[in-house]
Amino acid sequence: MTDQEGDPMTQASSQASPMTSATTPSDADDRPLIYVNGQLVPRSQASINVFDHGLLYGDGIFEGIRIYNGRIFKLEQHMDRLWASAEALRLTIPISREEMIAVLRRCVEANEITDGYIRLVITRGVGTLGLHPFKCPTAGVVCIADQIALFPPELYTEGMRVVVANRPRIPVVCLDPRIKSLNYLNNILAKIEAIDHGCLEVIMLNTEGFVTEGSGDNIFIVNDGVLHTPPIDAGVLEGITRRFVIDRLSKDLGLEVRVRNFRLPELLDADEVFLTGSAAEIIAVTQVDQHTDGKITSTRKITDGEGEITGKLRACFREIVTGDNIPED
Ligand code: PMP
Repeated sequence: MTDQEGDPMTQASSQASPMTSATTPSDADDRPLIYVNGQLVPRSQASINVFDHGLLYGDGIFEGIRIYNGRIFKLEQHMDRLWASAEALRLTIPISREEMIAVLRRCVEANEITDGYIRLVITRGVGTLGLHPFKCPTAGVVCIADQIALFPPELYTEGMRVVVANRPRIPVVCLDPRIKSLNYLNNILAKIEAIDHGCLEVIMLNTEGFVTEGSGDNIFIVNDGVLHTPPIDAGVLEGITRRFVIDRLSKDLGLEVRVRNFRLPELLDADEVFLTGSAAEIIAVTQVDQHTDGKITSTRKITDGEGEITGKLRACFREIVTGDNIPED
């Protein structure tokens, strides 16, 4: 690495460079400053070309990343997943990993964020009106460091009601869910089922009837003190929070984790159910409803409020992310 590599402020201006000068917003409210293809610009000026295939076809990838106490949680794992998604789509990220990390840190600093969320988007780039991905010479890079509130704060202590989506998850052979792509329509249509029935999250099954995940989070069940979560090949995103529960939190708490397939009846009979995600963090599911023809047809209460083990996992998570040793690995 040269002295200048990774320094967002020393790069020349081009689509592929990590960053040029920070534009000072004329209006201090025009925040956050957003990185778009080499420039840090005020919110109202942050835009992409309408010929970008990220917009035209959802051809692109993204990461949602938490910032805790000024540190970028599991930064290296997010970079690994981003580059793996890019490779699966044969998408060339136009800046190096070091430069990308510098962009993220610059966005966090420029917006003075100590606790927040980064949305990093890589689009296929500007091309023609046809699908052909390789007619887009340079991928686009957008980095937004801001705040996110996926669910109302009270749900983190009370737990939440969800519905089971009638629409199955796209089979893995059709679209590998490990690719964190800009195509979220399967999840959005499932989420609409939840919204139609007065809640904010769904449980999605695969075409074989196995439980997969939520529309934007992974799922765990707890039975007799053991955690169970579906394997990646059931059709789930390889969630970084899921991995943190498996690799760190469960170990800190001495809990066994079994990664295996299970069907809906097992979930409905579970002692506890919870969801994990960078945006969602850890949140209990206290009730699971099923619906047909616009009506709720069955309701299953899982717990009264947050279950004991979910509470312990959430407390352990909070202790780590509010502590002095927030992992960036
Ligand atoms: N599944 C889906 C479909 C998601 O969109 C997300 C959010 N990125 C997750 C699971 C959770 O993954 P992570 O813990 O890496 O945020």
